[in-house]
Amino acid sequence: MIVAMQEHATEEQIDAVIEAMVEAGVGVHRTTGALQTILAGVGPTASLDLSKFELLPGVEHVHRISSPYKLAGRGFRPEGTVVEFRNGVKIGGNQVIVMAGPCSIENREQIFETARRVKESGGSFLRGGAFKPRSSPYAFQGLGIPGLQLMREAAEAHGLLVISEVMEISQIEPMLPLVDCFQVGARNMQNFNLLRELGQVRKPVLLKRGIAATIEELLLSAEYILSGGNYDVILCERGIRTYETATRNTMDIAAIPVVKKLSHLPIVGDPSHGTGRRDMVAPLAKAAVAAGADGILVEVHPNADKAASDAAQTLYMEQFDALMKEMRVVATAVGRTL
Ligand code: PEP
Ligand code: MN
Repeated sequence: MIVAMQEHATEEQIDAVIEAMVEAGVGVHRTTGALQTILAGVGPTASLDLSKFELLPGVEHVHRISSPYKLAGRGFRPEGTVVEFRNGVKIGGNQVIVMAGPCSIENREQIFETARRVKESGGSFLRGGAFKPRSSPYAFQGLGIPGLQLMREAAEAHGLLVISEVMEISQIEPMLPLVDCFQVGARNMQNFNLLRELGQVRKPVLLKRGIAATIEELLLSAEYILSGGNYDVILCERGIRTYETATRNTMDIAAIPVVKKLSHLPIVGDPSHGTGRRDMVAPLAKAAVAAGADGILVEVHPNADKAASDAAQTLYMEQFDALMKEMRVVATAVGRTL
């Protein structure tokens, strides 16, 4: 259930409503928007008589949530979520944020050179996998925490933020001081134990859509994190598996406006995994910006042809620089900055 408080409701009135909801056996999640406070009640609300809450002082209206996800739905934060980071970087606001870096962190020189070039071109985040989910157990599996320490150093030297994939619960704690944002990969979108644990941390999580997941399943996975009280979730469209084989995955651009309509959470487009081909990354990145994405996650490498993973979809640094300029034009055309 959603209880929308009146614009000028007092703290006492809000507290009284929360108390009544808790008394009725409902878990309460509160969000304070620019205009009003919204209280989302989760749990056994089906049998509750909602009119009882409607009559409480300070309440504007009460309604049931028909979707299976309660906190990820637009109704919880009608004006949209803005996730804030150090350095004043915000995802979900007017500015489109760019996260760029190699698929995998490989060595010091590679990650420092990438950081320098990403910053120079106007990126905000340095990305790079330290723990890699590879289809083959014989493929490069990543450098682990020492790799992440290198990326943190490189990011700090160039004023960038850090995003990296977490694959299992035991990695959360050692990663916490090294990342600004956790990435949950497509293969782990339905690793519910991991999602629950990430609901307990107070650090943003970028949740990628699974390769065979519907948008509703993506939002339900986000719900696992939100229901733990971590409301800083960013969604990511990275392509899904269809019968089309011309590209590695089928980048579902439509998912961007669909998510915007259904949810308050920001959404980022990943045209690298979305296409799997270097020559298709730029057109899909621009399409994602045009469709309303709040950010772009893209793989770049100073020696892209020799990248230890995902080389075929990794941009040369010059291509990235050119793409940044083109995306800026698209962003301006749709009333945003980049
Ligand atoms: C990645 O970002 O390098 C990655 C492994 O992505 P995904 O989980 O989307 O395959
Ligand atoms: Mn990759």
